[in-house]
Amino acid sequence: MTPPCSIVVAGESIAGITAARELRELGHTGPITLIGAEDRGAYARPPLSKAVLKDDSSDSTLGYRLDGFDIDLVRSPAVTADVDRRVVATANGQEIGYDALIITTGARARRIAAPGQRGETVLRTLDDARRLRTRLDAARSAVVVGAGFLGMEIVSACVARGIPVTVVDVDPPLRRILGPFVSEAITTRAEEHGVRVVVTPGPATLAGDPVDGVRLADGTVLTADLVVTCCGEVPNTDWLAGTGLADSLGVGIDPACATAVPGVFAAGDVTCLRAGRGSRTPFWSTAVAQGKAAAASALMLDPAGPPLDDYFWTEILGLSIKVVGPLPPPGEPDLVEGSVPGGSALLTWLRENGQCTVIAYGKRIPVPKLRALAV
Ligand SMILES: Cc1cc2nc3c(=O)[nH]c(=O)nc-3n(C[C@H](O)[C@H](O)[C@H](O)COP(=O)(O)OP(=O)(O)OC[C@H]3O[C@@H](n4cnc5c(N)ncnc54)[C@H](O)[C@@H]3O)c2cc1C
Repeated sequence: MTPPCSIVVAGESIAGITAARELRELGHTGPITLIGAEDRGAYARPPLSKAVLKDDSSDSTLGYRLDGFDIDLVRSPAVTADVDRRVVATANGQEIGYDALIITTGARARRIAAPGQRGETVLRTLDDARRLRTRLDAARSAVVVGAGFLGMEIVSACVARGIPVTVVDVDPPLRRILGPFVSEAITTRAEEHGVRVVVTPGPATLAGDPVDGVRLADGTVLTADLVVTCCGEVPNTDWLAGTGLADSLGVGIDPACATAVPGVFAAGDVTCLRAGRGSRTPFWSTAVAQGKAAAASALMLDPAGPPLDDYFWTEILGLSIKVVGPLPPPGEPDLVEGSVPGGSALLTWLRENGQCTVIAYGKRIPVPKLRALAV
């Protein structure tokens, strides 16, 4: 088989741009068309819940630079894919043929409002972040639904501005991702900062139309000036209807980022790795790793690395938390260097199968050094 000549990358963000760059790095000289959905172009999302919520000084520095990059850029969303004819159609009426297609259309915020209920606030895009910043400027109280990393970053933004905030979840903060030990430490820290942490026995719903509160599973309603929901994300696969490429978990990929359809590959938040029950890993480093792997596979080369990168970071209540290794870590760490209550510690979990998770909890450490500790 000959390597593909023309390649379409659908989705202009970190996974898509990484894939397009990698195609050139690996020597592909044929046409690459990158399809983006946002007029302003692509930008990094991690700062949206960190720097962007503080002030507008970083708004103009988030964009990715594409100058000097030999690609055809189409800024109009993909609306259909015909995988038999190998054609992607965009909203502006273009039909773009491909020999290989790399799907990188990411995900959108999962919403929990009832049908027709207005005013749910989420955070996924730069516009969402700007709107939320304006709301934070005026809010005198806030409730955040979802105590994952995104919810806790928004809680942190409220604390930094002195806004009384309640966080609601069916699990304690960050427990699903960082395990019981770090969850307990973060909960204590949050409460010390005046955050009210509510663990509800069943899913919370939104109250009011427009939304002005949160109804807990026992019927209690918490009202606030600002209600933000951080309840996960939904892969952007609507445009792939009828192709058999996606289900509710996303576009299924194998470890080489190949889908079940010949000539079609996928990377980033849109994907679900089909191993065992299938798993989604909607994190930055994995989007980069998969972008590279998908590019190699599209060129019929063996990917240089695995389709998962288990480095992850967040910033919560003034602490930078960096993690390498499988999540969530179980129980108490085997090694603690430094002080968790003091806000600077290195935590290590060693598993019987030899795998290791290392968390730098407020401790400054270069990422390569952290990675080396987890090997
Ligand atoms: C606020 C926030 C903070 C985060 N912080 C962290 C963090 O601290 N650490 C971490 O590891 N991860 C973090 N993440 C997750 C990380 O940003 C994502 O894992 C990463 O952005 C995924 O990249 P992606 O390219 O797969 O998808 P996305 O970033 O979702 O990009 C997909 C792109 O495809 C476009 N698109 C959608 N539909 C179409 C279509 N039909 N046609 C064409 N284009 C389309 C979208 O407009 C978008 O530009 C954060 C995410 C958010 C939202």
